[in-house]
Amino acid sequence: MFDSLSEGLQSAFKSLRGKGKLTEGNMREGLDIVQRSLLEADVSYPVVQDFMQHVSERALGKKVLLSLRPEEELVGIVQSELTAILGPVDSSLHLKTEGPTIIMMCGLQGSGKTTTCGKLSQLLKEQKVTPLLVAADLQRPAAIEQLKVIGQQLDVPVYAEPDNKNPVEVCNNGVARAKELGSRVVILDTAGRLAIDEELMAELAKIDKKVSPDQVYLVVDGMTGQDAVNSADAFNKALELDGVVMTKLDGDARGGALLSVKHVTGVPIKFIGTGEHFDALEPFRPEGMASRILQMGDIVAAAHEAHRIVDDREREELEAKMASGDFTLDDFKNMMEKVSKPGLMGRMMGLMPGMGQFKDALESDEAAGGIRQTIGAINSMTAEERRNPKVIDSARRSRIAKGAGVQTPVISQLIKQFEFMKPMMQAMAGGSVMDRAKMMSQ
Ligand code: GDP
Repeated sequence: MFDSLSEGLQSAFKSLRGKGKLTEGNMREGLDIVQRSLLEADVSYPVVQDFMQHVSERALGKKVLLSLRPEEELVGIVQSELTAILGPVDSSLHLKTEGPTIIMMCGLQGSGKTTTCGKLSQLLKEQKVTPLLVAADLQRPAAIEQLKVIGQQLDVPVYAEPDNKNPVEVCNNGVARAKELGSRVVILDTAGRLAIDEELMAELAKIDKKVSPDQVYLVVDGMTGQDAVNSADAFNKALELDGVVMTKLDGDARGGALLSVKHVTGVPIKFIGTGEHFDALEPFRPEGMASRILQMGDIVAAAHEAHRIVDDREREELEAKMASGDFTLDDFKNMMEKVSKPGLMGRMMGLMPGMGQFKDALESDEAAGGIRQTIGAINSMTAEERRNPKVIDSARRSRIAKGAGVQTPVISQLIKQFEFMKPMMQAMAGGSVMDRAKMMSQ
């Protein structure tokens, strides 16, 4: 994500660093590179102009040129200006204390709207709130079915009226059903078109007026660059938007659209979608995103992600085991099984400073095969061997290898890695989350 933007900025800063002392002249050169990278990253021209003006004013001030580390100062300015235009932060769904909160989702067809309805449902379920999903996309024949499947997967009720062609009625009936069910949240999955048209906008405006949703969220596809900005502008003019969800930021989206969409709509970016799975939805954090843009990594987001897959009790147990050195190959296997969830490892790696380059390798079939192989090898060991792999002699190594269908060196390597990791894990378990994150990033 944001590869071209961060690469451009990185090279800009590198070229500034190479010059030794900063002067107003080479600072301008650096600012030009920053500007070019933003444009290359699909940030629209007026937004770039605005941004560069703020950055230049601050960067060319005497204070920066006189500071001891002017290039760091410039990075700081670019980061804080990026944070400022991406903010303010508001990922709350603003649930009402009484009656159902109605959330209307809109966006172009294929933007990821229906998937995002599922992701929001999952997020709500994590907060012990079961929403009611309403299938109000009556344009795309498969949309009702798609929402029903999502409902089944997440065990969330779905309201649909396949024969009713009036989306306002379907939404109102859905809200009535939510009241009957006592649901705290109703999510309306409205129709999208392949391109913006008057009819779609009129239909959505009608739902907005007649159903009076509490929150209207626009889902935009982060991969579509400038098109995302144009559609966001059109939706924003037709509806009173409360927030934006930008999807598909896990791919090679240039990311600049995020800045422009924020600029044209003026509403908060609530969440970003980072994958096809229901847990691939992150609350939007401008500082984190600005850091990510600058490739400084985002340790807090990685910790947040890890937090979601291991619950508190499990974590405490694991930490106690690590701290006391009781961490066994069984625990290691459990952790591997957790992190081998499709896409998760790659996402976490992408968040760590300098680790983005390993993302593809980790997402590859080879990596998945490696994890399966390791799990298979651990499964072929006895309980005692898993607890204390030191007891595994060379005869046992080849027998375990045979059992797991791998070569003997794979087993030797696994044991070596485990012995190497154990003291590190023990040390990590002793520190705070931040200490640990720092350790991981070194
Ligand atoms: P809708 O027409 O707007 O309802 O779009 P869908 O929810 O059907 O999504 C269209 C496609 O985008 C599907 O294949 C989804 O799996 C995919 N998709 C949605 N969100 C994301 C995301 O954050 N990342 C990636 N990689 N794919 C996504």
